[in-house]
Amino acid sequence: MIGEVISVGTEIILGSTLNTNTYYITQRLSEIGIDVLFHTSVVDDSNLLKDVINIGLNRADILIFTGGLGPTADDMTKEVVSETLGLELELDEDMECNIKRYFDKMNRTMSSNNTKQAYKPKGSEFLTNEMGTAPGIYIEWNGKILILLPGPPKEMKLMFDKYAIPLIKQDYTIKIKTISTIGIGESKLETILKDIIQGQENPTIATYAKEGRVDIKVVAKGNDETKVDELLNEIIEKIDERIHEHIYSYDDESIEEVVYKKLKANNMKIAFCESCTGGLISSRFTGIPGVSQVFDRGIVTYSNRSKVEELGVKKSTLDKYGAVSEQVAREMATGLLNKTGVDIILSTTGLAGPDGGTEGKPVGLVYIGIATNHGSFVIKLTLSGDRLSIQNKTTLKAFDELRKII
Ligand code: AMP
Ligand code: MG
Repeated sequence: MIGEVISVGTEIILGSTLNTNTYYITQRLSEIGIDVLFHTSVVDDSNLLKDVINIGLNRADILIFTGGLGPTADDMTKEVVSETLGLELELDEDMECNIKRYFDKMNRTMSSNNTKQAYKPKGSEFLTNEMGTAPGIYIEWNGKILILLPGPPKEMKLMFDKYAIPLIKQDYTIKIKTISTIGIGESKLETILKDIIQGQENPTIATYAKEGRVDIKVVAKGNDETKVDELLNEIIEKIDERIHEHIYSYDDESIEEVVYKKLKANNMKIAFCESCTGGLISSRFTGIPGVSQVFDRGIVTYSNRSKVEELGVKKSTLDKYGAVSEQVAREMATGLLNKTGVDIILSTTGLAGPDGGTEGKPVGLVYIGIATNHGSFVIKLTLSGDRLSIQNKTTLKAFDELRKII
C-alpha cells in the first residue's frame, strides 16, 4: 500500500512550525508495511488543498492528513476533503454531546464554532480525541483510505496510535537483515549481485557504502511471518553464495566487534604491535566495551630501535631488508608473541607517505604480520590514497584478516 502524508497549515510552509507530525506518521506507517512515497505540505487555502487531495488520490492508497481540524475559519481540512470526495457533512449528535461535555468539564462555554467539529462526512467514522476537542476522521472511499488527524502533536500521536493504526494495520511483518561486507567496492558488489537486486521486489535489496565497508540491506515483508523468513533466507543464501568471503557480519556490526566476539568465544587474547598505523588498530579495538577480556596490549614501535628493544627484531634483519619488509613484519609479530605469550599477535609496518617512497618500496606498501602458537604469516598490501586513508585501510585489512583466521 502506498501512503502519502499531507500536512495542512500555513505555519508549516512559513517555517514557524517544524513539521514533526509528518516524520512521526511516516515512521509508524512504515512499521506496519505501508510505503510512504510522498510528503506534501500545503497552506490553509481551500483550492490548493483540493488540488493536493486530488493528486494524492491519484498516486496513493492511503492519505493521512494532519492539521486544519480546529474550530476556526482557517481550519478546513474536513470540509474540503468532503467536498472533493463528494460526501455530504452530517451532524453527529453523540459527538455534539461529547464536545459539550468536554467544555462543561473544562468550565468553558462552547461556541458555535465548536459545533462544526461534530460534523462528519457521510459514511465516515470519528476518531476519538482524548487530548482535545477536534475529533479525527476515518474515511473509506473508492478503495482508498483517508485519515484526518489534528495538528497539535500530542493530540495527533495519541489518536493515530490508539485509534487510527488499528483500523489500517494488517497482519504484516517486516524483517530487515544487514549483511556487512569488506574488501569489495560498492560498484563491484552491485555488478556481482545485479540480477538478484534487479529482479527483486520482495525482498528489496540495497547497498550502502560506509567507511571501509559496504552494507547490503535486505528487507522482506508480507502477511505470513514464516514466509517472510523464507524469502529473507533465500536471498541471503544467494548473496552468500556469490560473495561469501567478503561477508563478515549479518548483524550490522563493525569488523572489530566481530573480531572481539570471535576472540571472546574462543577464549583467546590478542596484542598488537603497530608501526605505520601508529596505534589506530588498538584505538579502534579499545572502542569496544568489554574488550579488556581479550585485549592484552598494543604497542607503537615506530623507530627501528623500538622494534629491536620492545619486540626483539634483529638489527641484522632491519639492516638487510629495511623496516618495511615481510621479514620485519614477521619478526615483530613473533617477537611480541614470545614476549607476551598471548594467543595471537598482529603487527603492521609500511609506508603511509606522502614522502619516503622509493621505486622498490612505494608509498602504500604495507606488511601485516600475524603470529600464533601455530606459526606466523605475512600479508603484503599495496594501497593507494593519502596518509590517513592508507592507515585506515591497513586497519580494516588487519581486522579482516583476524576475523578470517580466528
Ligand atoms: P491545526 O489543527 O491546524 O489548528 O494545528 C494546531 C497546531 O498544531 C498548530 O498551530 C501547530 O502548532 C501544530 N501543528 C500543526 N501541524 C503540525 C505538524 N505537521 N507538525 C507539528 N505540529 C503541527
Ligand atoms: Mg491550522
